[in-house]
Amino acid sequence: MTRSGIGFDSHRFAEGRPLILGGVEIPAERGLVGHSDADALSHALVDALLGAGALGDIGVHFPDSDPRWKDTDSRVFLREAVTLLATRGLRPVHVDATVLTEEPRLAGHIHEIRESLAATLGLPLDSVSVKAKTGEGMGAIGRAEGLAVLALATVEEVSGA
Ligand code: MG
Repeated sequence: MTRSGIGFDSHRFAEGRPLILGGVEIPAERGLVGHSDADALSHALVDALLGAGALGDIGVHFPDSDPRWKDTDSRVFLREAVTLLATRGLRPVHVDATVLTEEPRLAGHIHEIRESLAATLGLPLDSVSVKAKTGEGMGAIGRAEGLAVLALATVEEVSGA
């Protein structure tokens, strides 16, 4: 049997911060503000994975009030989410995400981001999908105040568990 979970995250842009998505640093004039490395793609995927296991959310497991997570590489959260799923006898089989951002254009970085996420999650490349869309100039995304990510994760019961 498979189960699915959804995730969402958004972070504001600011000067002097790196732009990290899926563990990959993207060349950009501005990066994302956050307690950890502000990797909104990884955060949305963590919530999707946790959601598939009904395991709560990223704020429950990795509160931003905890100094341990300051500037943390968010791939740590992804790996921990996979570990938490394993305690429920579940493992990820597929993830899909859409990054909503006006800038920078991500098309040239999608493959590297997918490779990074596949390695972090222990999934084959063809089970990791990442897409990008602009906000067509509308709203906070369209004004490039920040970016947002929608994510979906599918997990399955580990046979014999
Ligand atoms: Mg976040």
